[in-house]
Amino acid sequence: MPLLCEVAVPVPLARAFSYEVPLALAASVRPGARVLVEFGRKKVLGVVLATSEGAAPEGVRLKPIAAVVDPEPVLPSELLSFLRELSSYYFAPIGEVLRLALPAVEREDVRALEAQGELPGTLSRVKQVGGRKIAYARPTDAVEEPGVLRGQAASVLALLRSNGEMPIARLEEKFGNARAAVKKLASLGLVVTEEREPPRDAFFAQPEPRDEPPALNEAQGAAEARIEAALSEAKSAAFLLFGVTGSGKTEVYLRAIAGCLARGRGAIVMVPEIALTPQLVARFRARFGDDLAVLHSGLSESDRHAMWKRVRTGAVRVAIGARSAIFAPVVNLGLIIVDEEHDGSFKQEEGVRYHARDMALLRAHRASAVAVLGSATPSLESVHLVRQGKLAELRLPDRAHREATLPEVTTVDLRRMGPGPTGNKLISLPLHRALEKTLAAGEQVILFLNRRGFAPSVVCESCGHVATCLACSVALTFHRARGGRMRCHYCDWEGPMPAACSECGAPALALEGLGTERLEETIAEAFPTARVARLDRDVADGAKAEAILAKMRAGEIDVLVGTQMVTKGHDLGNVTLVGVLNADAALSLPDFRASERGFQLLVQVAGRAGRRDRPGRVLIQTRNPEQPAVQFAKRHDVSAFLEHELADRAEVGYPPFSRLALFRVDALDEEVARRAAGVIAAHAKTSPEGQSRVVEVLGPAAAPLARLRGRYRFRVLLRAKDRRALRAATAAAAAAIPEIDRRVRVVVDVDPVAML
Ligand code: ADP
Ligand code: ZN
Repeated sequence: MPLLCEVAVPVPLARAFSYEVPLALAASVRPGARVLVEFGRKKVLGVVLATSEGAAPEGVRLKPIAAVVDPEPVLPSELLSFLRELSSYYFAPIGEVLRLALPAVEREDVRALEAQGELPGTLSRVKQVGGRKIAYARPTDAVEEPGVLRGQAASVLALLRSNGEMPIARLEEKFGNARAAVKKLASLGLVVTEEREPPRDAFFAQPEPRDEPPALNEAQGAAEARIEAALSEAKSAAFLLFGVTGSGKTEVYLRAIAGCLARGRGAIVMVPEIALTPQLVARFRARFGDDLAVLHSGLSESDRHAMWKRVRTGAVRVAIGARSAIFAPVVNLGLIIVDEEHDGSFKQEEGVRYHARDMALLRAHRASAVAVLGSATPSLESVHLVRQGKLAELRLPDRAHREATLPEVTTVDLRRMGPGPTGNKLISLPLHRALEKTLAAGEQVILFLNRRGFAPSVVCESCGHVATCLACSVALTFHRARGGRMRCHYCDWEGPMPAACSECGAPALALEGLGTERLEETIAEAFPTARVARLDRDVADGAKAEAILAKMRAGEIDVLVGTQMVTKGHDLGNVTLVGVLNADAALSLPDFRASERGFQLLVQVAGRAGRRDRPGRVLIQTRNPEQPAVQFAKRHDVSAFLEHELADRAEVGYPPFSRLALFRVDALDEEVARRAAGVIAAHAKTSPEGQSRVVEVLGPAAAPLARLRGRYRFRVLLRAKDRRALRAATAAAAAAIPEIDRRVRVVVDVDPVAML
């Protein structure tokens, strides 16, 4: 009987392709292994999904597998079937889904293939890693003769001189001919090259002394016992660990992991932003030593691969990372933890649009593992699952340190309260006074403002015209940095501030509103002795953000001004005042989750005030102090908010009381996009589920953000109570995509989060 196999190739097609397995390769062609196959006229790298015995269908001649790349399947079978399920759930091409989980190819394996006569070119576009050594180039003190260097050699040398030593692989990311350039520079004595072991990951830079696990308090103990029981049954189970900030959730995670490891199984821990949580990683290291893999975007390709390999072989049993950690090839997976499960970053918003929290539940279920979702402000989805009996709730009602109390929250009604001495409306008198008092006491302040830049809009004082991006339907933000520029926060367009209004020509442009840049400046002027710093995407990403947070913890900053980034991260030291400059910015977005997200943000940022022995104060400024999100945040009453919000959602029939699938349609031409959206909607409406109204079809309609990067955006929203019916209608509508004008981009977003 001939052997056949199904291979997923990296093309955006939903199906896999059949190939014949030559006898010589029969033993090594296994599900989860990478193979080289002929596809069209090229050879491509594919992944074996399944093998079967049997003959090709009548009249079909299957091509043979050309070569097997991995001696051992790269994807364990548990992970492979999870990926296939994910692909089907999200209507995402299997080839693209696999790419999320596949490691780079090792050079050694490439060499073996070349020895078999496979063209090296085939794999040239595939990421390769290998060997333990990395080649570095370092500038010497030698000076070149004027005029001898041209082109990339000159640029490479300039970069090395300004940066110091760099891996040659990094240079290659910037310069195609970096290798040749370095060789030339080396021959001129201008640089030296050296092969060395790759650096240890920054997360492991300092040794971390082992800690002594504290005795659990009663609530923690009860939670741990439930998780332990589930682990020892080795059946799948899922929990929502609902505990206020500082209630000791992390300690429960640590115990659960220990329990999982004790049973010889591995664990995945997902956190929203790994770069902002080095303290969390430090706590894990203190408990489990360095036998954990920290997967983060700062890793070089070879470090990432080294980590991946240690996880795949079972040498390391715990993987920590952001949402993509859900794809870690942990052996004998026993536990998945999702910390801050409500966080929006678990939803990937491009390419394969998956939700890592939902997928954690799925993967754990299929792997007979335990899932623990933790939060101080759980998502309505998770709370709903608790009510349906699909998640078991574990409560940690109090902060772990008995003396730590929740901060006192007051609202400032911006309609009635005037500005303080700065004259800025958003720095109200009560906020100004609170700042004075806190600084006088030598304590720290966090000011949270949802707007980057100096001024959120540039307005003509003569005609009222607001400067907007030419490519997007949004106002341009004025940034003070680099001499003052207007920037679009959606497409990153940047340009000079015009001298006059583009509408009426009047030379009277005003900078309106308050952004973090201006806030930082205003506070620094009003409190000249205070050390003021800012944390937002413009000044910091990843490691730099952590450096600012570290200064904050060390007490080298008095007032930290910033966007959402200040709400993340742990213990910020001596903070006793948190000011929310404008709560309405988040709460008034045209999105059915605006209130939920705004509430989470308020609770999260309020949680930064007063940890340990110092009581904290929170001031929330708003034009509508009566709105529920503000009222419940003020009373720290998360449960009551959830109750209220669930009732609201039930009334309007939005998730978690229904399920959604969103078709995002965009094109450069408005009419073309509108028509395509119409075709999608028509297919959905004429599907059996659409006709029987089991599935509601809303739209086609212009998206709230009607234009982005020059493309007109439309959407068609499908909504249903029944998941299977929604899937059927979504499939019917998706079937229309191939018929649609090629200039149109259509994306299916199952369980969408971003609604703009
Ligand atoms: P969360 O993850 O819920 O924010 P943490 O686990 O970070 O809470 O706990 C907050 C603080 O309380 C930490 O400093 C932690 O070391 C401490 N802590 C947690 N559990 C206990 C305990 N049982 N006894 C003493 N201290 C504890
Ligand atoms: Zn733009």
